[in-house]
Amino acid sequence: MDCIFCKIIAGTIPSKKLYEDDRAFAFADIDPKAPVHVLIVPKKHIPSLAEAESGDEALLGHLQLVAKQLAAEHNLSNGYRTVLNSGEEAGQTVFHLHLHLIGGRQMNWPPG
Ligand code: 5GP
Ligand code: ZN
Repeated sequence: MDCIFCKIIAGTIPSKKLYEDDRAFAFADIDPKAPVHVLIVPKKHIPSLAEAESGDEALLGHLQLVAKQLAAEHNLSNGYRTVLNSGEEAGQTVFHLHLHLIGGRQMNWPPG
């Protein structure tokens, strides 16, 4: 499959791996928007949240708990944000569902 994140999971495209288990993989974003910017992806190729199904419920929750663990490992005790962009208008550019973990600076609201 011609998917950049599937290739990162498979190791055919290099990344700075930060976490891996049987269902999830996390790596540093190549263009960080904050001091900590990690992408947490399911190993299963789901193009976007719009394509997720009821059977993916536990997997989607798992990604959030991996984000929580990585936030603790990066000492983000003052707070952090998880972001899931779904669809072009939301700014999604890679169509393999991914959760952004962003932290280490003051966040603004609302997001742009
Ligand atoms: P999106 O805009 O789809 O929510 O987020 C895609 C993210 O993937 C962007 O933050 C972008 O910097 C990151 N990204 C795109 N290509 C690569 C890559 O080859 N390696 C890594 N580590 N991150 C990437
Ligand atoms: Zn993929």
